[in-house]
Amino acid sequence: MLQKLLIFIVLAGMGLSGYAQEAYMDAEAEDLEKTYLGGEPYKVKLYTQKFKAEKPKNIIFLIGDGMGVSHVFSGLVGNRGKLFIENCRHIGFSKTQSSDDFITDSAAGGTALSCGIKTYNGAIGVNPDTIPVETILEAAEDKGLATGLVSTSAITHATPASFIAHQKKRNMYEEIAADFLKTDIDVFIGGGLAHFIGRKDKRNLLTELKEKGYIVENDMTKIQKIKKGKLAGLTAQVHNGRLEERGDMLPIATQTAIKILDNNSGDKGFFMMVEGSQIDWGGHANSSIYIVEDMLDFDRAVGEAIKFAAKDGETLVVVTADHETGGMAITGGDFNTGMVKAGYPTGGHTAVMVPVFSYGPGAEEFIGIMDNTEVHAKMKKLLLGD
Ligand code: MG
Ligand code: ZN
Repeated sequence: MLQKLLIFIVLAGMGLSGYAQEAYMDAEAEDLEKTYLGGEPYKVKLYTQKFKAEKPKNIIFLIGDGMGVSHVFSGLVGNRGKLFIENCRHIGFSKTQSSDDFITDSAAGGTALSCGIKTYNGAIGVNPDTIPVETILEAAEDKGLATGLVSTSAITHATPASFIAHQKKRNMYEEIAADFLKTDIDVFIGGGLAHFIGRKDKRNLLTELKEKGYIVENDMTKIQKIKKGKLAGLTAQVHNGRLEERGDMLPIATQTAIKILDNNSGDKGFFMMVEGSQIDWGGHANSSIYIVEDMLDFDRAVGEAIKFAAKDGETLVVVTADHETGGMAITGGDFNTGMVKAGYPTGGHTAVMVPVFSYGPGAEEFIGIMDNTEVHAKMKKLLLGD
């Protein structure tokens, strides 16, 4: 806003038509980003609603960062009226407010889901007094379950970090990377290589991971061939690129992590969190193209989770967001072409409730309006019994 005002003042002051022309073209380019023209749709399968168990042995928890109802709907239109998420027949809403702000960030939002506490914006796995709180991933690990994290951002970024690290501030990336070594997490796949090597403290965390028995790999074609054991998949220096650059990294990483955790867990079960990180970035950019692309990529990852859960019969899949981004409002669209048009009142996060979709044994618990901390409590009770 301020930037636009400044540009206006500069233009008015200089009175140069050349500058005005440029500003006009920028505005047009901006509008183009606000319309998704439709892409190649993928086939969606609807799976069984009958499950072997009454309580889940495994939980696959998927977070679409910044994913509000409009983001989901934009994906639904973009893929011509079909999403894997539709397999989830139990639907609720999560209230995302943090302890110190009506509008949460991804750190406090992630910590509410991972630790079951309301904390301040920027906090990673710590309470408002900066005291570490056990995450559901750590609690699962303590009970002998296998655990995993998958993300399209750096694995050290706020959302995945909230499940495994305990730091006062979200930007303490090297400290967050070191926290991975304090756990026995079975598999993690995401960016963030730069936080494991070339560090201020001179530690080489890749060497340390190898000493702990991890296969350390950064090539997705090699990563997807791994079937068991411990895997540290670091697929980018910091964040993975946009969809056209990273390809099917997220659905493939999700499928790979599920396979490894299923093989590693024996009869104990597993907990994993998968993040579609960049739905949020599309929201910040007010780009409908970016949002729909990443929403559909995330939905394909949800599809991988549901495919496994349907076959397994003892796996609960929970899909939600940490908050909404952009205040996305769908102002036009076409189910036949996949075109989506949207408007945005903000380049930041908003306070609105976000959807909770669930599939599998225990899914019926996640209905109605709940606090984000309750999503945690319900998952923990179902998986670990407390
Ligand atoms: Mg995130
Ligand atoms: Zn954000």
